[in-house]
Amino acid sequence: MGTTLDKIQQVYAGEDREKILKAYAFAEKAHENQKRASGEPYFIHPCAVAEVLIDLGLDPATVSAALLHDVIEDTQATEEDIRREFGEEVLALVGGVTKLEKIVFKSKEAEDAENFRKMFVAMAKDIRVIIIKLADRLHNMRSLDFLSHERQQRLSHETLDIFAPLAGRLGISQIKCELEDLCLKYVDPEAYEFLSVNIRERLSERKEFVQKIVLEIKELMERDGVKGEVFGRPKHFFSIYKKMKNKDKSLDQIYDLTAVRVIVDDMKECYTVLGRIHE
Ligand code: MN
Repeated sequence: MGTTLDKIQQVYAGEDREKILKAYAFAEKAHENQKRASGEPYFIHPCAVAEVLIDLGLDPATVSAALLHDVIEDTQATEEDIRREFGEEVLALVGGVTKLEKIVFKSKEAEDAENFRKMFVAMAKDIRVIIIKLADRLHNMRSLDFLSHERQQRLSHETLDIFAPLAGRLGISQIKCELEDLCLKYVDPEAYEFLSVNIRERLSERKEFVQKIVLEIKELMERDGVKGEVFGRPKHFFSIYKKMKNKDKSLDQIYDLTAVRVIVDDMKECYTVLGRIHE
């Protein structure tokens, strides 16, 4: 678990760092002797969740809450302990995550995923609660191999219906893409295997290709005096999978294995860049 501590030390300083380290120590102690389904110490879970959030650049209160997110539910620690040690802000975040835990559990009752997502967001009040919950789900999906087949299926479908779309809405595409790819592994293992073998080999090739395109577009924009940002990425498995399925195509018939996004200030500039690319 050295890496979580390293990350905290690298990213935060002064009082912020002190607060997070205090949450780290508290959670480590509270989860002492508990184990994950994998047999590993339970504490690796809140650490992994906190790391996802540190990588996303979140604030100290959110990272502290991530470290503490399971202590009220799963340990002797009480709300009063959290309030006394960490204050109202962290308590509100931890309490929010704990509350969501309970409604997610009943998600099969919600027939309409869209309504359920809306209720979920409304219940959270603070958007950071949702972000912690997404990171929590991400790590749980990463360690799904150790659960029963039935739970793997239930969690994967729930993730595809509720959590991946929520991550997409919030613009956190790293989480959305990783969640979807992890689900695919359980929802359609054959397709996942096929894509792993046929696509992963070429992933570095595709990365280089996207980088080249991004540079070219940046040059074009510079020449036209258009300011903006250009992002490129190889598409993730799940989006390729959906396309193959919806359009009934083979991998060879899918040409857009990569995606580029250009963000500019206004419509006019947008069409200028689009025109250049078409040229
Ligand atoms: Mn958790």
